[in-house]
Amino acid sequence: MDDCIIIGAGPAGLTAAIYLARFHLKIRLLDAGDSRAGLIPLTHNHAGYPEGISGRDLLQRMLAQAERYGAVREAARATAIERNGDDFVVRTPDRALPARTVLLATGVRNHRPDMPDALHDEALERGLLRYCPICDGYEVTDTKVGVIGTDTHGMKEALFLRGYTKDVTLISPDGGHRLDTACQRALDDAGVRRVDGPCGGWAIEGDQLAFDTAEGRLAFDSAYPAMGSHIRSELAVAARARATADGCLEVDDHQRTSIPGLFAAGDVVKGLDQISHAMGEAGVAATTIRNLLDERAPMRR
Ligand SMILES: Cc1cc2nc3c(=O)[nH]c(=O)nc-3n(C[C@H](O)[C@H](O)[C@H](O)COP(=O)(O)OP(=O)(O)OC[C@H]3O[C@@H](n4cnc5c(N)ncnc54)[C@H](O)[C@@H]3O)c2cc1C
Repeated sequence: MDDCIIIGAGPAGLTAAIYLARFHLKIRLLDAGDSRAGLIPLTHNHAGYPEGISGRDLLQRMLAQAERYGAVREAARATAIERNGDDFVVRTPDRALPARTVLLATGVRNHRPDMPDALHDEALERGLLRYCPICDGYEVTDTKVGVIGTDTHGMKEALFLRGYTKDVTLISPDGGHRLDTACQRALDDAGVRRVDGPCGGWAIEGDQLAFDTAEGRLAFDSAYPAMGSHIRSELAVAARARATADGCLEVDDHQRTSIPGLFAAGDVVKGLDQISHAMGEAGVAATTIRNLLDERAPMRR
């Protein structure tokens, strides 16, 4: 029986693995291998790396740190979390793994514009496509920016980016914009241009990302999809953990879900989708897990 099974080896899961392994606990780290952090070409807002660090390098360093204390990352997708008295069974396609506690750190997946994967990845690598204005809005200061989105979400992202550049256009991904009067007024006040979709014909042209819209072909120094995300909380929701309407897990200030012994940290929890936040939540979760297990059976060497 593992003391804790961590599901997900992004910044949240790996931080928890470092803490829990250093608490001398028996842990298992299951990972499907597609951390959002792995998509970051070079982060400049993560503290401690003045020259920036790529998401892959950061994950590799964190894994090496966890391994130093005995953690092992298993390439496996968890398919179910089942309660078994005070304990749990985590299922993978070929195993049933018993655990005293479970930490879900499965993150989210951004909805992407409809473009070929190879083009998407090249545009991402070159900073022509970006997903996180909080992270890298600084890098688009005074450049020409397109936001692919509509509704309140699209409006908020466009207004956020307006803090970096005056050249912001909000493009609806799928036809006409859906913006109420308040949204329209806020965009007008900020001087954000609006263009209807649908978007298509994506291509890198020179140092810009170009695509077709209802007003013809447009090109931007950077485009930010603001099309929402899929919250990867299904395993906990199926076990009846409480979540918001859009699927973010609800936790208390110790990262406890509504199911005793089931914890969650990182993007899968409602909060700031940032590496620092994922790490902080994981540190809190890991320490609470340690103290819970200690209450059940005092940890002494
Ligand atoms: C392009 C881009 C740039 C970004 N730039 C920055 C930046 O500069 N600074 C910053 O702070 N943040 C940035 N972010 C956000 C940052 O990547 C996330 O906040 C962070 O990765 C969240 O960590 P996490 O551990 O919660 O989730 P993730 O990193 O997404 O990791 C979740 C892990 O869980 C695994 N998993 C999911 N389901 C299962 C399952 N059923 N079984 C087993 N494993 C599973 C996945 O494979 C994945 O490895 C950026 C995001 C993107 C997309």
